[in-house]
Amino acid sequence: MFNKIKEIASELKNEMIPFCQKIVQSPSFDGEEGNVAALIMEEMRKLGYDEVFNDEYGNVVGIIKGDEPGPHIMYNSHMDVVLPGEREKWGEFDPFGAEITSMLTAKVDPAEQEETRVVIGRGVADMKATIASHVYTGALLNELRKHHGYKMRGDFVLSSVIYEEAGEMLGTVKLMDETFPARDITVHANICGEPTSLRLALGHRGRVEFLFRVNGVAAHGSSPWLGVNAVNKAMKFVDAYEKAVEAEKKNDPDLGSSSYALCYIDCAPGANCIVPDVCNIQYDRRITPEETPEGVVMQAQKVIDKLAAEDKNFNAVGAIRECDHLTYTGKVVRMKNCKEAFKLDRNHPLARESAAALQALGHDSTFYYWNFGTDAPVTHVTHKIPTIGYSGTQEVYCHIPLERVRLDWLEKSLAGNAAIYLRVSSLETRDLTL
Ligand SMILES: [Zn+2]
Repeated sequence: MFNKIKEIASELKNEMIPFCQKIVQSPSFDGEEGNVAALIMEEMRKLGYDEVFNDEYGNVVGIIKGDEPGPHIMYNSHMDVVLPGEREKWGEFDPFGAEITSMLTAKVDPAEQEETRVVIGRGVADMKATIASHVYTGALLNELRKHHGYKMRGDFVLSSVIYEEAGEMLGTVKLMDETFPARDITVHANICGEPTSLRLALGHRGRVEFLFRVNGVAAHGSSPWLGVNAVNKAMKFVDAYEKAVEAEKKNDPDLGSSSYALCYIDCAPGANCIVPDVCNIQYDRRITPEETPEGVVMQAQKVIDKLAAEDKNFNAVGAIRECDHLTYTGKVVRMKNCKEAFKLDRNHPLARESAAALQALGHDSTFYYWNFGTDAPVTHVTHKIPTIGYSGTQEVYCHIPLERVRLDWLEKSLAGNAAIYLRVSSLETRDLTL
């Protein structure tokens, strides 16, 4: 069956690659994914998916019903892309041209390169090539059923969501919290298609965007003793906060240690001759599975309380940053800018069977961990659905000019995704718990 998968992937690439180009040619910044959503739905209908719909937020879902009972496996991607940046940095290539060309391109180790054929365009690695691979994984499974006697266990569930880049998991949160329960859709495992260079990703640290506001009392710059300088108080706070985080840092053997970075600071009014009465500070906190966003809030509050007890003029508040997002369907959704860490045990049946699937194809089956964050905490942490990362795109090309996907890896990822479906769906749903 695994040789058949490779053969069919090699045929289907002739339709998958033009589809990948087509969706790259349709820009889909956050809140503007409507056109791409329509293209993806059209393609899934053409390929014979049993159910295709988009929800009220604009997430797209396609389902192929299994022939026999078994675990339902989701393949999750996002439709939104980041801005292309300065046009000149793309040289002769249009960021939305989706041209195919030969170019020196990274191997698994980005330090090594080789000349290979690629599609170039904003969003192709992050993550429209994955969308194309997922859409055609359904087609490949259908082909196996129709012509090669394959009985599909469980449902193949494709989801491609809105607002991953700017929306703090908005699309996947709404999909799992509202859309699936309302339609009685259950999934037992999730394959997250963020870039993995054809390896299997088992986790990443969490992230908390933390905002502090230190309050002072304004005064004329000539008589500062009449006020409380918010920036001076903020300097005390930064010192105490970083010491506290440093002392309580956690280390995960696979994901690395928790970290903090002061990313932004400003004061108000911020003008000559005025002692500032406000200082805003923004931290990027990365957390391990031992920590939670709530814990990060409590840790900061302890530092604030301690400083306030020592100094009656110290006044500060801290909170996780929240933002409103407008979806292309006209919904406004407020999200907190944070996500938990997630980690799948390498001995979990999902990890084991996914690796066995890639080995059966003769592909790389290395486990590794992402540097960046994904939507995986929604399924893995909140909904307790085991989640693993797999994709033929490369982290090294995300969010940069000349973003690209290797055509050889796009074909390999199609075979890989189908093989993972075969092996993982052979499990019982009780094996797919956390
Ligand atoms: Zn992405």
